[in-house]
Amino acid sequence: MTRVAVLAGGVGAARFLDGLVRVVPPSDVTAIVNVGDDMEWAGLHISPDLDTITYTLSDLVNPETGWGLRGESRRTLDRLSELGGPDWFMIGDLDLATHLYRTHRLSAGDTLSDITRDLTARLGLECVITPVTDDRLRTVVCADAGELAFQDYFVRRRASDAVHSLRFDGAESAQPAPFVRDALASADAIVIAPSNPFLSIDPLLSVSGVRELVRSSKHKVAAVSPIIGGQAVKGPAADILQSLGHDVSALGVARIYAELANVFILDQEDASLAPAIETETGMRVVVMPTLMIDVDAKMALASGTLKAVLDAA
Ligand code: GDP
Ligand code: CA
Repeated sequence: MTRVAVLAGGVGAARFLDGLVRVVPPSDVTAIVNVGDDMEWAGLHISPDLDTITYTLSDLVNPETGWGLRGESRRTLDRLSELGGPDWFMIGDLDLATHLYRTHRLSAGDTLSDITRDLTARLGLECVITPVTDDRLRTVVCADAGELAFQDYFVRRRASDAVHSLRFDGAESAQPAPFVRDALASADAIVIAPSNPFLSIDPLLSVSGVRELVRSSKHKVAAVSPIIGGQAVKGPAADILQSLGHDVSALGVARIYAELANVFILDQEDASLAPAIETETGMRVVVMPTLMIDVDAKMALASGTLKAVLDAA
C-alpha cells in the first residue's frame, strides 16, 4: 500500500490526480484542495477547485475548458443576465445543481469537508477529496487597481493585472479540515501538484500547521513543475513569477519549493536546467515529460513522480 497525499489546485492538479488514481488504488489517494478561490456568487457558495477535481475524476468535466460539466448550457446565466444579475462568472446549468446542494447544506450547518465527501461518494469516487480547511479562506490579489477579490482578478479582469503581492484572508485562524493532518502525516508520498504556486499551493500552505507538516515530511515530498520552457501550460503562473521578481522558469519554481520538497519533477524540455536546480536547491531533479495531453501521459507522470519520491525517501 502506498498512501499518497496531493496538494492540489484546479485544472493542473485534476489532470495529475486523474493519472494517479489509475496507477495506485484510488482509496490510497487524498487530494488536499485549495479553497482560496472560493466565492459567494448570487447567494451561492462556489468552490471552483474542489469542483474541477471532482468533475475530472468522475469523468464529467467539460474537456474543452477543463472545468464545468460536459454538455451543460448557460440558459440560466443568460436569463440572469437579462434580469441584470451577475453574469461575468460562468456557471453552467448543470454545475448550478452542485452549488445549490452545497449552499443548502452549508446553511444547515454542515462543513465543506462533509459535503464534499458526500458529493464525491455520490459520484462513486473512492479517493478522498478534502478542502484544506473548513474555515473561510480567501485569496486577495494586490495590484495597481488596489486589492482585488480572487475571482475579480482571475475571471472578471482576466488575470490581466500585474500582481504585486497576495494575501490569504482568514489564514491566521483557519484550521486544517479533519483528514488533512492525518493524510499528510501518514502518507508514504506527498506530491505538490503541477498547480499555480502562488494562487493554488501558497493558500493551502498558509492554513495553520500545513506548511510545517509538509516541511517536516520533506524526505517524502515531490513537487511537479507547472512551468515548461518558461511558460505556464495555462493561466498566469509565469506572469506572477515575473511580477513578484522570480526567475520565470522551472528554476524559479524550484527555488520556491526547495524548503518543502526533496524531489523536483522537471519537464524534459527543461532538462538543461537540472544541474543548476540540483546545485542551488539541493533537491533531487528527475526529468520526464510532464505535459498531460492524454490519459497515458497523466499516468506516466503520476507513476514517474511516485517512483522518484519513493526512491529518494
Ligand atoms: P487552476 O485552479 O485551474 O488555475 O489550477 P491549477 O493551479 O491546478 O493549475 C494551473 C497550473 O497548472 C498552471 O500553472 C499550469 O501551468 C499547470 N498545468 C496545467 N496543465 C499542466 C500539464 O499538463 N503539465 C504541467 N507540468 N503543468 C500543467
Ligand atoms: Ca483555482
